[in-house]
Amino acid sequence: MERNETRQITIGHLYPDLLNLYGDRGNIACLMQRCLWRGIGAQTVEFELNDEIDFTKLDIVLLGGGSDREQMIVCQKLKSIQSNFKDYVEDGGVVIAVCGGYQLLGTHYKTQEGTIEGLSLVDLYTEQGEGRLIGNIVLQSSLFEMPVVGFENHGGRTYIGSGTPFGTVLSGYGNDGESGCEGVVYKNVIGTYLHGPLLPKNPQVSDWLIARALERKYGDGSLIPLDDSQELEANRYIFERFVK
Ligand code: GLN
Repeated sequence: MERNETRQITIGHLYPDLLNLYGDRGNIACLMQRCLWRGIGAQTVEFELNDEIDFTKLDIVLLGGGSDREQMIVCQKLKSIQSNFKDYVEDGGVVIAVCGGYQLLGTHYKTQEGTIEGLSLVDLYTEQGEGRLIGNIVLQSSLFEMPVVGFENHGGRTYIGSGTPFGTVLSGYGNDGESGCEGVVYKNVIGTYLHGPLLPKNPQVSDWLIARALERKYGDGSLIPLDDSQELEANRYIFERFVK
């Protein structure tokens, strides 16, 4: 039965003009649609580099992927938002940060062209390695029963400190191509190398983000199940192709 739904969330998309490799924007469309299907209000606010960001008005923040050059441009702005962004994260604010955005969560990303200072929101750092780590990737995350599937393409190798990995690599490279770990989870932040469309292929990750945001805002993160048969089939196909 339909519940009398009054909950609503606001998604903040940071710097989509610079950090939007591989259609990371599709992740926003997915979050919005999964809310709307359930009658949960959802709106997205896009921020350009010089816009003021009021983190107290946001429930989910998306930081997408970008080239080293674009990350360098963004990093010059990060100092001015660092303190408010940190308060948001420490207060349980939900963040999904993908690839270049994931790297920017840490202290720095060292490249041959120089070091890109990060947001220092999560205990991690990245160094450019020899060659790029490119391909399909499958993980098992302790947050979900079903595997997380996606695509990665990064020159950086990320080393996480005290945070928990997002998942164990079943097929692919992950954080550094060696540790067998992928991504990071810290409070309600997920950082991952898995590019768009991460969320459409992994409805369990979308719903985790939405549920955490609703829980923080309303103390009620319950979600009506959706018919995910097509998404589950797509997920299973990738799992069987690369793991089984
Ligand atoms: N520029 C970063 C790297 O190559 C991130 C790339 C990306 O977001 N795909 O590691």
